[in-house]
Amino acid sequence: AKLEGKGTFRFFEPAMGAQIRERRSMEHDLRNALENGELSLVYQPQARVESGRVLGFEVLLRWNHPVRGAVPPSVFIPIAEESGLILKIGEWVMRQVCQEAAAWQRPLNIAVNVSPLQLSSEGFASMVRHILDETRLSPERLEIEITETALIRDPNRALSALEKLKALGINIAMDDFGTGYSSLSNLQNFPFDKIKIDRSFIQAVHTKPQAAAIVRAVLGLGRGLGLPVIAEGVETSEELRFLGLEGCVEAQGYLFGRPAPITELTSLIFGNAVA
Ligand code: C2E
Ligand code: CA
Ligand code: CA
Ligand code: CA
Repeated sequence: AKLEGKGTFRFFEPAMGAQIRERRSMEHDLRNALENGELSLVYQPQARVESGRVLGFEVLLRWNHPVRGAVPPSVFIPIAEESGLILKIGEWVMRQVCQEAAAWQRPLNIAVNVSPLQLSSEGFASMVRHILDETRLSPERLEIEITETALIRDPNRALSALEKLKALGINIAMDDFGTGYSSLSNLQNFPFDKIKIDRSFIQAVHTKPQAAAIVRAVLGLGRGLGLPVIAEGVETSEELRFLGLEGCVEAQGYLFGRPAPITELTSLIFGNAVA
């Protein structure tokens, strides 16, 4: 058995067995989470660096499990992807968001996270088109955020999906830029409209000179490519000031607001009117 290596041994450790059972149980529960009304959406403001004016929101999924409580997306999104459940859940997210935003008084933008499996799934763009038709949301208000992981496995398929989405008039943002499988050629070969600098760089601008240099370089890259750059994870006014001085136009982070249910954001969405 030793020949099969360390990984095989670990598989039989009781702790690992527990981990696998735990995962299976979560997957099982996630399968019913939609029907049981356990999934919900929160919205986090995206604002202009200079004025603080809110331009739109990123939409983030939440799972409130009846026993476990709030399960973090970093735990359940990977399970949803590996099990394929993200296709059904992602469609639900898209429909909810478009329905919601179409009813707002202010035409604020909405950014929706789209997983690699969704982007490469058959008929993703036509599903989005259908939802846009159904809800009458104007496409220029909708942005999808994808990470570079979504481009790796089947670049041709990803490109064709992105081109169809672009043809609908929606925007494409590159999420978590600078991490993972980052490659500048992705900015050359895929039709991105926006770059989101990963929050790990923003959070280190005042502690690591490398991070500040990387943020400056990405902002320069955006200028050169004519792509707007949004900084995520902005928590302090010092970070915001740095971004303003370096010419960053948009930002998102706890400084402007934590992700919140839509019912807490009605004054932004409906002006001073009582919703
Ligand atoms: P992401 O797309 O990078 O989302 C941004 C994450 O940063 C969110 O975490 C948000 O709550 C957090 N964040 C925002 N501002 C700050 C800040 O100032 N400081 C800190 N420390 N964190 C901040 P969240 O909601 O836990 O989501 C984690 C990840 O789960 C997301 O990362 C995204 O990859 C995934 N995710 C969330 N909702 C969806 C969804 O509807 N579909 C898909 N496919 N993925 C989703
Ligand atoms: Ca995102
Ligand atoms: Ca991100
Ligand atoms: Ca920080």
